[in-house]
Amino acid sequence: MKRIFCPKCDYEIGIPLERVRQWKQEKLQTTAVVCNNCTYQIKLRLTPPQKKVEAKQCGYIVVLENVFGERQEFPLVIGENRLGRRNKDTVTDIPIITGDPSMDRHHAIIKVKQMKSGKLKFYIADDESRVGTFVLGDILAPKEWREIEDGTIITLGATSIILSTSELGAK
Ligand SMILES: [Zn+2]
Repeated sequence: MKRIFCPKCDYEIGIPLERVRQWKQEKLQTTAVVCNNCTYQIKLRLTPPQKKVEAKQCGYIVVLENVFGERQEFPLVIGENRLGRRNKDTVTDIPIITGDPSMDRHHAIIKVKQMKSGKLKFYIADDESRVGTFVLGDILAPKEWREIEDGTIITLGATSIILSTSELGAK
């Protein structure tokens, strides 16, 4: 299920992946979805598949499913990736769709650095959140950048996320 939000009323709309695949097969560039809540016609731009291959992949994070939200995956980019609870009035790089009240809208920052050898290194810091950011159960000190690796479990509020250093969709 692909999730979008109505730009008019912020209602969450789920689009079955089967339908998305169909649009791609028909080579549609744009399509429209009607909001179930306010009947607004939402125009969707469908990304051509070749564009995805061009984007540089730098690992991704998996947000584990819990009572507050579904499993989600977000690709990371070189530099800073800001994470937090999605809210329509907040701009963040990784907007996690969750009802977790202990996750702040700006909760943590993951930094991806490329070494001269080409190797990627990953670091995480707390973004002055109320309850803090935990790496393997250990709370980060203010302004501390902790190196994280493939499979590292990070806790934001009551929600766990896992770093994957492989390419999204490669498995
Ligand atoms: Zn709407």
